[in-house]
Amino acid sequence: MSCSLADVMSEQLAKELQLEEENAAFPEVVAAAEGPFITGENIDTSSDLMLAQMLQMEFDREYDAQLRREEKKINGDSKVSISFENYRKVHPYDSDSSEDEVDWQDTRHDPYRADKPTTTPRRGFIGKGKDITTKHDEVVCGRKNTARMENFAPEFQVGDGIGMDLKLSNQVFNALKQHAYSEERRSARLHEKKEHSTAEKAVDPKTRLLLYKMVNSGMLETITGCISTGKESVVFHAYGGNATEDKVIPSECAIKVFKTTLNEFKNRDKYIKDDYRFKDRFSKLNPRKIIRMWAEKEMHNLTRMQNAGIPCPQVVILKKHVLVMSFIGQDQVPAPKLKDVTLSSEDMKKAYYQILNMMQQLYRECNLVHADLSEYNMLWHDGKVWLIDVSQSVEPTHPHGLEFLFRDCRNVSQFFQKGGVAEALNERELFNAVSGLNITADNEVDFQAEIEALEKMNEDHVQNHGKKLSTFSSDGDPPIYDE
Ligand code: ADP
Ligand code: MG
Repeated sequence: MSCSLADVMSEQLAKELQLEEENAAFPEVVAAAEGPFITGENIDTSSDLMLAQMLQMEFDREYDAQLRREEKKINGDSKVSISFENYRKVHPYDSDSSEDEVDWQDTRHDPYRADKPTTTPRRGFIGKGKDITTKHDEVVCGRKNTARMENFAPEFQVGDGIGMDLKLSNQVFNALKQHAYSEERRSARLHEKKEHSTAEKAVDPKTRLLLYKMVNSGMLETITGCISTGKESVVFHAYGGNATEDKVIPSECAIKVFKTTLNEFKNRDKYIKDDYRFKDRFSKLNPRKIIRMWAEKEMHNLTRMQNAGIPCPQVVILKKHVLVMSFIGQDQVPAPKLKDVTLSSEDMKKAYYQILNMMQQLYRECNLVHADLSEYNMLWHDGKVWLIDVSQSVEPTHPHGLEFLFRDCRNVSQFFQKGGVAEALNERELFNAVSGLNITADNEVDFQAEIEALEKMNEDHVQNHGKKLSTFSSDGDPPIYDE
């Protein structure tokens, strides 16, 4: 047959010729095919792969038919039958529609009614002869797997699958199970994080356990919430619980949790390192214990102040890094800091004299320097000033004790001078008034130089005599460095 070049190059013609050829070669294949590939009119025979698959399918079908015949011949009427099922090319489930599609037609019951999967009896199979189904049967297994989805965490969405006659292959089920478990763990972690991020930034699980125990034991009634989150501590409010034999619990308590985030405490080393009370212990302690020592220090210092009659929180209990004390304030509202409250000039003056008095008491009776005294750590409550936050307080003979005192005096002096208290001493006068020392320098630089000289002298004394002697005693007596 002769034709033009254009005709040879025509795709249309090529297709037509191919079709003709195919029809001639496999007319009955197309007619007999019932498989998933051929669905009547839309036979696509343009692909070689498709043709190969069609051929293979026909071959498999014939092979299987042969197998069945042989199976029948061998089994005959015998009670025990053998199956060639495993040797078949076309397995019944292979011809099922695609894996991820639910086969609605396969459902014998209402698809929305939960259908208990048929269990396989003990012996591991049901049925007889060639109808035998073992527990490994694809369908039984698949239904069982679907039912097992019910065991996943409640928040794991499984859709309507359980209600349908859905069969999950082991592979799919295992993948789902793995996913369900990891989702569960992830959601637990998220939940935990969320809990942390509410008022409880400093509260790690161990601290929380400590707090729970306090509530559980009845010592505290409830922990209502967070009052303050600082760099080094978090303070909570709580209602006091039942009194024990040796302790009356205040009706309202403040819980100071010293933060266990270690790096926050690095800059505080010098307070505690040089405090002779902790000298022997410091080098041996791990950071966690050092934090406990802050809490312990605050407790000891508060107790000293309490004994001297200085208005301050009363210690209730110390557990590790958690200090419970009486609450300064009322009905969950903490007393305002001096910096936040507007006082009448009369109250301002009163507050000033009270503080002067307290600083002297602290120094002389408690043998302490606050070391962080300012309008931030003084509360106004019941018409008077209350001192708080004394974990960093040191004894005056601390190598930097007098420097700390001078800083305290500067803060107080500046606050009241700015606050319009005409009687307020300047920082140097205040320092002398509190310490009983008589440093005469009339400018800050010389004053500080003298303070440092005194500290050095005292340190040398400690070095030479092995033990601290000086208390920088007041009452007009010359302190030891005058000797
Ligand atoms: P920090 O070292 O974080 O400054 P503080 O002891 O100063 O810790 O406490 C922080 C804040 O918590 C205070 O400014 C105060 O408002 C509140 N607070 C602390 N203790 C008490 C208490 N006993 N009663 C009422 N409020 C308190
Ligand atoms: Mg404070």
